[in-house]
Amino acid sequence: MDEPTDDEEQAKPASAKPTTRMKRRRYAPIKIANQIPMKRRREIEKALGEVGETPKKWSRNEGTKNHNFLKKRIKPGTIRHLEYDLLDVEIGESWPIPVSVIHGSRPGPVVTLLGAVHGDELVGPLALTYLCGPNFIGEDRVIDHNVLAGTIRIVPITNLPGYRRRSRYFPDGRDLNRSFPGKPDSNTTSRVAHGLWTQIISGSDYIVDLHTAAKGRTNIPQIRANLAHPSSNRTARAFGIETILDSEGPRGSLRRVANDTDIACITFEGGGSDEANPESVQISMYGIINLLRSLRMIPGYPSKPRFRILASGSVWIRSDQGGLLDVLAPAGSFVEEGEIVATVTDPEVPGESHDMTSPIRGLLISTATHPFVNSGSPIGHLLPVRRGVSTLMRRLDEEGCLIVSGSDGDPPWREDEDIEDIAVFGEWSGGSPDAEWGPSESAEGAEGDG
Ligand SMILES: [Zn+2]
Repeated sequence: MDEPTDDEEQAKPASAKPTTRMKRRRYAPIKIANQIPMKRRREIEKALGEVGETPKKWSRNEGTKNHNFLKKRIKPGTIRHLEYDLLDVEIGESWPIPVSVIHGSRPGPVVTLLGAVHGDELVGPLALTYLCGPNFIGEDRVIDHNVLAGTIRIVPITNLPGYRRRSRYFPDGRDLNRSFPGKPDSNTTSRVAHGLWTQIISGSDYIVDLHTAAKGRTNIPQIRANLAHPSSNRTARAFGIETILDSEGPRGSLRRVANDTDIACITFEGGGSDEANPESVQISMYGIINLLRSLRMIPGYPSKPRFRILASGSVWIRSDQGGLLDVLAPAGSFVEEGEIVATVTDPEVPGESHDMTSPIRGLLISTATHPFVNSGSPIGHLLPVRRGVSTLMRRLDEEGCLIVSGSDGDPPWREDEDIEDIAVFGEWSGGSPDAEWGPSESAEGAEGDG
């Protein structure tokens, strides 16, 4: 069937009252894209089959209880701004971080939102700060504690010492997102992870962890989730953006450890470190609102993208020369096989430049931002797209970049069955989506998710 025209879409705004037919279809079975590798497809189907089709229900009749959190009793229908000490000490640095709790007047799930688990990734802190107050996506989007069903815990700056030092890491050089669930008597970062895990994360039903790419690269807004974990699969789709990478997360990452204890967890990535990428901030805010609406925690109907790319593998574009890189196709570009994506020049050999081309047609989800390259340096990360090309091409801007849902204002509501699933099969070289970027500047290494 042809795509709806813009006019047709406008006739179905986000606030449109759903028909009974729409309501019934809200929890329709999830389609498993038929090109995901058979083994992975079976794992996902099995996992989704085990839980049935309807997510857990919260009884609205029982009334709302106090939310016990950080030794406080938070009354229904209130917002509390608390402080939590990352380290339990009597002298020296305890690193108190701000935690806001919105405890709704109606019962519902507990959603925990985290920013700056990596201290130099600023999209999360900004999005979560805006989410708590008046913001640029509209006054009606402020979460009203009198209307909210359930509880939202907001931790805008998780790694406060890293944030202050403009570093991904904790002062001991370790990566918090490789240290969960942590130990109370181990190294500093492990102690912090243990405290967060037992005090902040514990009792959550859903977690959204907001990240950006690590230093030296940038990502298009994307979700990473273990699609074989049923509630994480639904959460990833509910976020309402196009690009979903199927990945359980590196060992010690919050996502993987949360899934191990059956808490739904997705990682959002958008932009790069040390920058306040406004598009990624806006998209992540819309995504969180979509999720809260999907869970029926706030009023309104979630918006959905025209298509979803469900990727279980990728292709890397590497430099075959050394020198200084000039990226011509930015992250988000849809590139053809043989298309020039970057050029490399060497100041020591003036007048000579080498073109780097894409080995295959696909969507560039990440590109290098640091210009210095050697032969073999990764310069672009590509999802090879073989199906759904015409659908995808209808959502490209003048420069050939994907217009991510939520970046061009409030995206429309559409029925789940009208969303085209575009599967990208393969595997993640090195075992996780970011492994080929290599270890980052720390001795601990930072392969895996940014
Ligand atoms: Zn990160």
